[in-house]
Amino acid sequence: MSQFEHTPRECTKTFLENALEVLGVESELAYLLETPHRTVEVELPLRRDNGDLAVYHGFRVQHDDSRGPFKGGLRYHPHLNADHAQGLASLMTWKTALMGVPMGGAKGGINCDPNELSIGELERLTKQFATRIAAIIGPAQDIPAPDVATSGREMAWIYDLYTQLNGHHPDVVTGKPLELGGSEGRVEATGYGVAWITEAACKARDITMDSARIAIQGFGNVGSHAARYLAERGARIVAVSDVGGGLYNSQGLDIDVLLDEVENNDGKSLSVSEIQGSGDAIDNQELLSLDVDVLIPAALGAAINRDNVDNINADMVVEAANLPVTCDADASLRERGVMVIPDILANAGGVVVSYLEWVQNRQGQHWPEDSVNQTLTRHLDAAWRAIRQRTSEEDFRLAAYSVAAERVIQTKTLRGFLL
Ligand code: NAD
Repeated sequence: MSQFEHTPRECTKTFLENALEVLGVESELAYLLETPHRTVEVELPLRRDNGDLAVYHGFRVQHDDSRGPFKGGLRYHPHLNADHAQGLASLMTWKTALMGVPMGGAKGGINCDPNELSIGELERLTKQFATRIAAIIGPAQDIPAPDVATSGREMAWIYDLYTQLNGHHPDVVTGKPLELGGSEGRVEATGYGVAWITEAACKARDITMDSARIAIQGFGNVGSHAARYLAERGARIVAVSDVGGGLYNSQGLDIDVLLDEVENNDGKSLSVSEIQGSGDAIDNQELLSLDVDVLIPAALGAAINRDNVDNINADMVVEAANLPVTCDADASLRERGVMVIPDILANAGGVVVSYLEWVQNRQGQHWPEDSVNQTLTRHLDAAWRAIRQRTSEEDFRLAAYSVAAERVIQTKTLRGFLL
């Protein structure tokens, strides 16, 4: 990616400003809406298994809590920094508002490569991080969840540490294992939402599911579940990839076989590109340039950027990852008439079920999966209809940010600004 491209925070700011301009929001309020409420950076010393001392940095950005407690994931990635977390935290504010979830926006994580750490090291590092942010998180204050390279395992460690300090509080994190108060359907929720919204967007463009040809970058939690749900609805998933490369089959890949091979590899991580006999090997840039109906970037941010946007041949891009299309590339796709379904809508299934997990924990209940999925579908449907009512020009990002910003402005105004 070009080094002069905009940063994640600048991109979220651009998307928000476009909406605030249409809504005619005054500049002081616009500044307040863009700026994070609080950015915390903590130093994290870790005694490695071999006795060496390593020092990492942890971040928690709390962007806005006018609609409810801060909510957002924790990612473990070597490139995580304050700007990145600020951009992603802001995204969460607009996502929760758009989905009608009474929560705000946050994001954070640790700038580590988890592949280089043992499980013991990861637990010590996670608990060190939890200790240092314990004062600013809490069930009514800020509720973390999994994101890239974190899962129920890390949430269980944070829950344990927080509970030791404050008493039993399963509602301090979501995305927990079922045994610790996790919700049915949470692991699959983001992929479920991606598939639901993709189908709705295809209908709006008169593309039937059984004629849709879809390529998905990223075969982790979000990408693999989205692939499975879309294949179940009849779509042809012609390509998938992960960090190790991808596979292409013009007749459609057998997603169940791929999932089986990736999951049952004696616990070792296997790239989809290593699975023999399913399709032809392609690299990630080739996948992004395929001539398909729908391209779903479900890996990391800035996958589609200024350098490769001219190679995109899809009719529609569904943002399953957060900020996978930079603001520079977004403008170019819009000019070319490519429909972009924004992240704050496409991947919001996860935060909706996180909210439902928090509700269940606070009520001491455990709901069956069909109740969870019915409620999730209601939230997706309501957000989709709110956006469709807003836009006739198919600028879904502008419409989504406008709906979300209006809701946040409403609560801020009702609560007032003066002390
Ligand atoms: P994950 O760690 O489970 O999977 C990430 C996938 O991306 C893996 O297949 C990995 O190999 C692949 N990948 C990593 N770097 C890559 C690269 N440079 N090129 C190609 N592929 C690469 O993460 P996830 O939970 O599936 O999250 C994926 C995206 O979805 C992230 O942007 C995350 O913020 C977003 N998201 C996740 C959730 C959730 O509930 N997990 C919710 C909303 C948004």
